[in-house]
Amino acid sequence: MTVEVIQPHGFCAGVTGALKKALALPGGACCLHELVHNELVVASLERRGMRFVKRLDEVPKGATVLFSAHGVAPSVRNEAVRRGLSIVDATCPFVARVHSAARSFAAKGLPVVVIGKPNHAEVQGIVGEIEDAGGMAYVYPSLPDAKRIGVVSQTTMNADDVAETVAALRGKFEVETLADVCGATRERQSAVKSFKGDALLVLGSASSSNTRRLCEVAPCRTFRAATMEEVRSLDFSGVEKLGVTSGASTPEDFFAEAIQFIKEKGNKA
Ligand code: SF4
Repeated sequence: MTVEVIQPHGFCAGVTGALKKALALPGGACCLHELVHNELVVASLERRGMRFVKRLDEVPKGATVLFSAHGVAPSVRNEAVRRGLSIVDATCPFVARVHSAARSFAAKGLPVVVIGKPNHAEVQGIVGEIEDAGGMAYVYPSLPDAKRIGVVSQTTMNADDVAETVAALRGKFEVETLADVCGATRERQSAVKSFKGDALLVLGSASSSNTRRLCEVAPCRTFRAATMEEVRSLDFSGVEKLGVTSGASTPEDFFAEAIQFIKEKGNKA
């Protein structure tokens, strides 16, 4: 079996920036939700003393709270201020750009359609921004009864799906939009789509949206693994050419260990 490493893969600028902020904090700081959707990154930060919490009332008074790369709604930010917490914001600049577009559509009086997964932290933050700006948010396929709408999207969706959805919305509404995936998501999806081989291994967590999208856009059968234990359990029988890539929150040391294991296993087969 030959193994091709797909480029680019792994950490994007947003994740690198969020990790830099997390690593600069002293032990005992709290992160609201997962900093990025990857269990290896979360476990490594926990070993350094970071606490992950689901609600702000779990953060001790006066402590530092870190907001994840996915961003938070203004109501969450306001509550942190009210509780006297010291805030460090690791929201990715590309997510912040979506926040600002969503707010500006809402401020113009447009209902705003969000293309994304309703339960994803990023979408909850975007919806919170729209409501805070006095607007009405609709997570697609929910749609307003209106003539003109604003449209934004979660940054880690399938780029082709976002373009198709925007085209369909243009058939029904007058549309103002900034809906698109971020550059890192687009580049990683494009590289996977042009891979020529019979199987693709995507390294990353099930909870990582961009990792799941890489599996979706692959032009061949896919495997996914989040840990070395999962990599060891994969059966590549019959695969002649395997492509390997990883989600934007998957650490490179895990990627390197997985590649080494697969190559060694392939040589012994
Ligand atoms: S995937 Fe894109 S939006 Fe998300 S953290 Fe990375 S660069 Fe930012």
